Order: sequence, then structure tokens, then C-alpha cells
Amino acid sequence: MKIDILTLFPEAFDFIKNYGVIGKAIDKGLLEVSYINIRDFSTNKHKKVDDELFGGEAGMLMTMQPIVDAIDSVRTQDSIVIFLSPQGKVFNQKIANNLVRHKHLILLCGHYEGIDSRIIENYVDMEISIGDYVLTGGEIPAMVLIDSIGRLVEDVLGNSESYQTDSHYHILLQHNNYTRPRDFRGHKVPDVLFSGNHKLIEEWKKQSSIDNTKNKRPDLYQKYIESLDKN
Ligand code: SAM
Repeated sequence: MKIDILTLFPEAFDFIKNYGVIGKAIDKGLLEVSYINIRDFSTNKHKKVDDELFGGEAGMLMTMQPIVDAIDSVRTQDSIVIFLSPQGKVFNQKIANNLVRHKHLILLCGHYEGIDSRIIENYVDMEISIGDYVLTGGEIPAMVLIDSIGRLVEDVLGNSESYQTDSHYHILLQHNNYTRPRDFRGHKVPDVLFSGNHKLIEEWKKQSSIDNTKNKRPDLYQKYIESLDKN
């Protein structure tokens, strides 16, 4: 999978580029990520990329020309142009599972008061928000997408099971997890996990998963119950 990020701050992505699972996936060539500085495309002699808002409101808006030229420099028939925006569809695992099937994502990061709406209307395929709050720029949201989609790319996690049993991959949250020591100051790991009985262990995991969902996310639990009724 190829991801092109259009941003005014390519250096903001150093973390994702250099650390952890995604950094390794990039090094191994499992993910191809490029950082394109929108300012490089500005035809203004001072490399200006923003201007005052029409309508008298305070603040600056990113202008069309550098963004449209930056999009055109990387867009192909296979591309999906995503604008990170608090007005977008709220991102979730289902969207990540769908986006990982695409060959090429172009992630457009806004700043200031955002971007000229004509870009959204004419050059953007999808607007995605990472939640109902406003950040100063689209770089952190873009990193959220790269991390969550990148870990779904084949071979990135090593074992595909590890994301299919995670919370949200299906409706339920994951079961409780424990590691050594078996008894920490009287806080004990459930005995069933040492029973050697795989069927019992799987049943315990399923129940723990249902309990976690019911207690922590009643909205998802309701969805789960409805999905059972449908089957
Ligand atoms: N004036 C815009 C509005 O009210 O819709 C908000 C602009 S925000 C200060 C600047 C940029 O940060 C946006 O263009 C977008 O790229 C990014 N951004 C802010 N909050 C976001 C969110 N919740 N999800 C995704 N991107 C966000």
C-alpha cells in the first residue's frame, strides 16, 4: 500500500516514520509512505499557502492552488483523496478495514481555519474526522489513520490473528489479558487460564469479551445483541 501525505509540516511525521511497528513496516517496504510539503507547490514568490477568509471572519484559510497542484502531482486512477477534517465521517475500525483494501491513499492535512471548500467539493473523495473535537492541524489525525490502517496491511503485524482478535475488529471489545506473575500481591490471574482445557479457555475469553463490552460500551453491547437476533 502507498500513502502520500500532503502537509505543511512533514517533520511532524518523524515519530511514525522512525518508531515502532509502522516505522519497521516502512523500512521493510510493506508500506510506502511519502511526505509532500504543500508549500513546495506554491507559485507565490513568497511561497504563501494561506489567505484571509471571505466574509469578514478572522483567521486564515489554506488556498486552492498549492493544494490542488500537490494532489495532482501524486493522484492516479487508484487514488483515494482523504481530507482530515472535524466535519468528516468519524473514523472507526470498519473504515480502517475498508481503506486497507485500497492501493493508494492521499491524506490531506489542513491547518489554520482549514482549506477552501472548493477543494473539498471538487478534489476530495472522503472527509474523515478522528472525533468530535477540533485540533490545530490534520497531522495527528493523519497519523491515526496511518497507524490503524498500516497495522492491517499483510505481514505488518507478523500474525494476522493479532488484529482479528483485537477490540472493534468484530463488534465486541477484547477479553481481559494477563501475564506473569500469576499472583501479584494477592491479585490473581483466573485459574481457568492454567487449566490446559482449550475449550474452557475459549469460552472464558468469549464471556470476558462480552462482559467488557457490556460494562464499558453498552452501545456496542446493544449492537452485539441485535446481531445475534439477526442470525
Ligand atoms: N474551521 C474548521 C472547522 O470548524 O471545521 C476547523 C479547522 S482546524 C483548526 C484545522 C485543521 O485541523 C482542519 O482543516 C483539519 O485538517 C484538522 N482537524 C482538526 N480537527 C480534526 C478532527 N477532529 N479530525 C480530523 N482533522 C481535524
